[in-house]
Amino acid sequence: MSALLGAEAQGKKGLPLDADFAAVSRLPLDADFAAVSRPSLFMHHLNISPTAIMHKTENVHFRKTNKNTVIKRVREVYLRTDIPCLSSQCPMNPPCHERVKVESSLLTSETPYYLIPDYSVSLRYVELLEQEELTNIIFSETILQRLQSEDKSRTYKSLRQVAKDPRRRSVVFCNEHCEDTHVEREPNESIEHRDWRALLKSALWYYSHLQRQVPIILLSEQFSQADAAEYFEIEGITVLSAKQYLNQYWPNNSVLHELFDSLKEAILEEDVKNQTQESGALRKSSSTGYQEYKPLSELEAGVKSERFFQGVLKVRANHRDQAFIRGNANIGEIVIMGSEYRNRAVHGDVVVVELLNKASWVAPSTHISYDPEEVHAAADDNDEERSTGRRHREIKPTGRVVGVLTRNWQPYVATLQEGSEKDSGSFHLVLPLSPIIPKIRIRHHDPKVLANQRIVVRIDSWPTNSQYPNGHYVRSIGPVHELDTEISAILIEHGISVSQTTQGFSEGSLKEMPVNTDENPWKPDSKELSRRRDLRKHTVFSIDPPNCQDIDDAISIRELENGKIEFGVHIADVSFFVKENSLTDLEARSRGTTVYLSDRRFDMLPKVLSEQICSLRHHVDRYAMSVMWTLDSEANVLDSWFGRTVIRSACEMEYEQAQGLLNGKDVVPNLDAKTCKQLKPSVVLLAKTMRKVRARRMANGGLELESSEVKFKFKEEGGGITDILPKQPLEVHQIIEEAMVMANSHVAKRIYTGFRDSSMLRHHPPPIESHFKMLIRAAESRGFTIDTSSNLSLANSLRECAAKSQGDIEFVRLIKTMATMAMSEASYMSSGSCPVNEYAHYGLALDFYTHFTSPIRRYADLVVHRQLTACVEGELLSNKTTALSAPSSTVSSLAHSELLKNGFKMEQLAEHLNYKNRESKFAQKDSTELFQTLFILQRTRRQSEGTGLGSAGKDGDEEEVPYVEAGIISEIRENGFFVFVPRLGIKGPVYLKEKSGDVVVPLSVLKSLTKGTKDKGELQQQSKEHLVNVSGCEMDTDLMTKISISVPATVAREYTSDKDGGLARNVQFRLFDKVQVALRLKKSLAHRHSIYMTLIGLEPPKSTADGLTLPSTNRLFKQKGSVGQQLKQDEVKRIAQQDPGLAKLSERELIQQIRQGQEEATTSLKYTKSNKKKAGKKQPDPEEMYSQTRAESSLYRLMDAFDRFRIIESSETEV
Ligand SMILES: [Zn+2]
Repeated sequence: MSALLGAEAQGKKGLPLDADFAAVSRLPLDADFAAVSRPSLFMHHLNISPTAIMHKTENVHFRKTNKNTVIKRVREVYLRTDIPCLSSQCPMNPPCHERVKVESSLLTSETPYYLIPDYSVSLRYVELLEQEELTNIIFSETILQRLQSEDKSRTYKSLRQVAKDPRRRSVVFCNEHCEDTHVEREPNESIEHRDWRALLKSALWYYSHLQRQVPIILLSEQFSQADAAEYFEIEGITVLSAKQYLNQYWPNNSVLHELFDSLKEAILEEDVKNQTQESGALRKSSSTGYQEYKPLSELEAGVKSERFFQGVLKVRANHRDQAFIRGNANIGEIVIMGSEYRNRAVHGDVVVVELLNKASWVAPSTHISYDPEEVHAAADDNDEERSTGRRHREIKPTGRVVGVLTRNWQPYVATLQEGSEKDSGSFHLVLPLSPIIPKIRIRHHDPKVLANQRIVVRIDSWPTNSQYPNGHYVRSIGPVHELDTEISAILIEHGISVSQTTQGFSEGSLKEMPVNTDENPWKPDSKELSRRRDLRKHTVFSIDPPNCQDIDDAISIRELENGKIEFGVHIADVSFFVKENSLTDLEARSRGTTVYLSDRRFDMLPKVLSEQICSLRHHVDRYAMSVMWTLDSEANVLDSWFGRTVIRSACEMEYEQAQGLLNGKDVVPNLDAKTCKQLKPSVVLLAKTMRKVRARRMANGGLELESSEVKFKFKEEGGGITDILPKQPLEVHQIIEEAMVMANSHVAKRIYTGFRDSSMLRHHPPPIESHFKMLIRAAESRGFTIDTSSNLSLANSLRECAAKSQGDIEFVRLIKTMATMAMSEASYMSSGSCPVNEYAHYGLALDFYTHFTSPIRRYADLVVHRQLTACVEGELLSNKTTALSAPSSTVSSLAHSELLKNGFKMEQLAEHLNYKNRESKFAQKDSTELFQTLFILQRTRRQSEGTGLGSAGKDGDEEEVPYVEAGIISEIRENGFFVFVPRLGIKGPVYLKEKSGDVVVPLSVLKSLTKGTKDKGELQQQSKEHLVNVSGCEMDTDLMTKISISVPATVAREYTSDKDGGLARNVQFRLFDKVQVALRLKKSLAHRHSIYMTLIGLEPPKSTADGLTLPSTNRLFKQKGSVGQQLKQDEVKRIAQQDPGLAKLSERELIQQIRQGQEEATTSLKYTKSNKKKAGKKQPDPEEMYSQTRAESSLYRLMDAFDRFRIIESSETEV
């Protein structure tokens, strides 16, 4: 160690255990002591042996709290001699980090400097530190401890996150515990000053420990080079402010500089405290401010004694004045009404709630909200609601927030409040895109540049005297309602990383990739070939959608001479190319999954793998991981084999082609006769075999639910969507699915035998019985009985519904969707995290399941491949007699893999992947909705206006063309109902009651009851007439199943003038009734546009002849088309159902939110450049369809783990 440090320790500080300090620590300790003196949070992961402890010392700090009381904080510190530098530059032999288990990646040796940020920089510029460009950052324990003790948990978490991300090569240095860097506070020394000395000492230590090879840059806003020179000879150490650092090292990086500028303007709590007077308009005076939170100790004690309740605050999307938490099992859901009671908590925060007295409890309303901006002062804010609404409602425990344990503040996409750009002040309000997030106050010197832009903002603080949270502008995404802007907004809101969406892969990662160019195409290596089972003589083929680029599965099947069947599933051997913990692996792990949007995709792996070397293209040799079975003629498995193979696909077939062969055709389009002849017997045998396998699984209770999606048809050269098409389900889809399900479940069993405590499995817990309430009632209303006691009974009930519904496809579809909604969510898990009886997959009726078949697109599959390889090759090693004796190089690395064997880490990884999957599905859903609104915008716009860009927000002079479709009533609410339009996969509200309370029914509907079938002219007339509402009617709602309107005689008479011959006096709308609706857009600047509907008629027309707007609907009604959004939107409904009390309300709001999401880009139709067709979409995963809500018990865990949830669930993806 350097003499310099030694001298310092002797001279300035004296002995660490100095008498004064010891004396102080014996003083009676105040209440905060216990909370503060907890053991270091940073040591445990290092696994340092206790023998290395040198001696104990104490840090005593006096700190002023927010309430201006002084508390004493004492920390016991065990100084050690073995704190590692965590640098790959370490000159020790062995390197000092080898003495400990290190989880993070090390600081690199190929860097011009290491960065050590101080407290001032960490607090204000945390987002700079989060930028991926900045690497090799040393976070000192000093800073992290201080962030914690001052409740800066968001900053704290962000820094820990950076240190945990292996790509960032950044570490936490436990300087407070290091004998050589520990610094005692001197009498009368300020905390800032002591911490500054501590950092300096750490910097010096690094510099000398690494033998002066790596200069250190200390970042500080408070101290300068001169301040450092005061203490030390500072060779090799440079002190820079953030700005100086950027100017010097990143002079041309505009992103970093812009970020710096906006952060400089951020309003931190510290600033707020210092502001005695503030631009008054935006702030409430302190007399009307929020209540202070209770001290942590009181909150903790209160939760323990059940005086308070702890939970994740969720805000209802379209009643954003209503929030709730799930209390404990006794109390159930607790409602929090209004911003005063919410007390500065934001959606997703972990809060502590105190119940109000029972007299103040309220019943949240169950009507469809009229407007995303809608705010209710209270649930029972008008008499009308009280009379009709409340009798259907349930009074709920109601409370107020008394503390926030964890903030969930995210980067939010927002828009400057309209008109704000004209304000002269520097403070402005922005409206987050998501209506559940409060307006945020930001400081910006030039609001004009923010007008009509989507911007990213962050919340920094929310003082009690401020009506809105304070935040800062981060960056601008682009003009509101432009397609690329709105897509970016979706990606940001779902936490999809910048590297995945823009930057591609790092240079280092690309260097790891095999070479595959035209001149030098990739070829299998002869040595590697000798280790693999050679299946190149087998007839292997793949079946995918047209233009599939990333083919990760292929199949082979043949009848053996003994009458048995040899059946193989071959999956791209991605794990051969992506080594564990390589840069590519780390990036893929972080991405978790490929993200598919309606018009583009963002890959998990570099294209050279996903589209080329790993993709199982035909006529080329490819490495695969194969499962080979020997089956008897009844498709029972006699024998199975797992292992690495080499294959040569004979054909990349498309679904339609395969279906053609299956249907008996000898030749199918775009496939030559020879190939058809070669493949037909395989396809036929495959179908025959898989039908048997499937039938067996169904007999065990496997559920057949709706797998449905819509796809968009784009004009070739941009300029718009030409249509939305339901995907046509073919039998061959089911056959391929069954083959994949079979492979996945067999692999699951295999890896479980090798990794009892850490195999990556996928389970689907049985649903909670009470969640089926709505399904059962809905079915009852149509005379059906649903038995939900087991998956088999449910499957049988659904089958009976289908059989007896007289071909009413839409009814069956909705019933199935309701069943899907009621279910729990399928998720990844580590086998060690729960008992064997919880591994089962309810929806598929399998005891073991995992994801093995899509390693190009899902990281979980890659892990499963590694586990399978380790199992199989481990077996090979112990069994020398096998022909494939030469173990491939992966064995040793996998044998040492910490991850594969560590159940705890595997569980963490599983949760990360669950989170990434969910967000990716949300993004996919949002993008689908975006395009649906675009489509409606196009269709409702007058032809003469073309597809020009509409002005954002209101465009009153535009005349709408009605766009009429057939729909089915999918949900009844207090003031109307929701209609699902199968053809477009859109669900939207129809209001029968206006905001004022007036019941309104379209004249056309009353007339239609008195008339028979209509011709086209009549329908068009009708679609205009719907605008004429008959008011003065009365309404009665039987929630869930029907809504009745009665027309008073006086009203009827008023409208009965001409040839109509009278109006109906009573109209009843029942769940599952068929209706005709006109689809419309509700436009918004700050939020996404949303689709709503107006009622046109009660029945779809019997038949219509030609191709105007109307005809397609009826045809499609009868078609076996599939529903796109239905599942997704209905799963939202399921969320509402998962809590019996919450019932229908939140559904509505969530649905509305979705609808808003759709609108977003509507006014901008110029998405010419971005019309990449979605390539490589795979068939829907039957398994994924069952994924829904989690069981209540695990909900909190889920929500804690995925702090970015917006809607709890999502459902479909692909195999
Ligand atoms: Zn070292």
